[in-house]
Amino acid sequence: MEPILVLKDFSVQYVSGEQRVYAVNHINLVVKANDTLGIVGESGSGKTTLAMALLRLLPEGSSETTGQAEFKGRNLTTMSQAELRKLRWRELAVVFQKSMNSMSPVHRIRTQIEDIYRVHEPAASAADIRKRALYLFRLVNLPERVYNAYPHQLSGGMMQRVAIALSLLHDPALLILDEATTALDVVTQGQILDEILAMEKEFSMTRIMITHDISVVAVSCSRIAVMYAGDLVETGATDAVLHDPKHPYTKALLQSIPALEGEKGQLKGIPGFLPDLSVRHQGCLFTDRCPEAMSICRQESPQEYAIADDWGVRCHLYGR
Ligand code: SF4
Repeated sequence: MEPILVLKDFSVQYVSGEQRVYAVNHINLVVKANDTLGIVGESGSGKTTLAMALLRLLPEGSSETTGQAEFKGRNLTTMSQAELRKLRWRELAVVFQKSMNSMSPVHRIRTQIEDIYRVHEPAASAADIRKRALYLFRLVNLPERVYNAYPHQLSGGMMQRVAIALSLLHDPALLILDEATTALDVVTQGQILDEILAMEKEFSMTRIMITHDISVVAVSCSRIAVMYAGDLVETGATDAVLHDPKHPYTKALLQSIPALEGEKGQLKGIPGFLPDLSVRHQGCLFTDRCPEAMSICRQESPQEYAIADDWGVRCHLYGR
């Protein structure tokens, strides 16, 4: 498959006067058409910043993005705002954790969907928009009556389904789901994940799933990318990485959640804290929490080493 999104040396810093926060560091990543990629890491690892920066949703005065993010061969970081507006939702859509809260409480869902649809298709008729919306409602398991409802008449799960249907109005080539099911109870989360998987059979869509919940990636993504403190530390096929993780941080993450199958082991937290990202650190950012740290780890930042085709790890253990 052709690459649809290529990140080259992609970095994001938050800037406030003389202070900088190094939120995303030198990410290199290729997402191919029809890939399903899960980006995981604990809070503060830079996952959401990465998604916001890709869509150029970060305030320009207080953030700096460097490197390249090529979407279908066009660099998102240098594109004009007018070009970006044409691309967002039509080609590149995102659902955030609180997307459901972005709906106006005083307008019917129908009115809001019509307004949003007409941003890209100003001449679309109400009947055509309704037809498209109801088709998407069926895919995300929403009854037809929701179209005429007000947001306050719907549950959180229903509202998040509306948000997912909205993101698919124009059949985007790339859908980013950023903790899109995190705020929901586990039953609703499971149902929505099933609906997303079923939907992908209908559309030719590439999906990036950003989550702190590795089990969501295990059941819904073919590839995984693990982030720690703004670094991409391990990428590969989900099955391979979850069955035989190589990076000490990926191992620690897996030991901190209950196993879905096999013998029950004791859960272990990851000792320590994320490093202070307002400081430029030397060496590997995981050193202070890593049980396998060596002297070189404090001195040199590890490069990415290939474990196999399409499986890379940024750790000195694999460069010896
Ligand atoms: Fe641990 Fe060193 Fe690997 Fe970092 S580079 S994860 S400190 S072994």
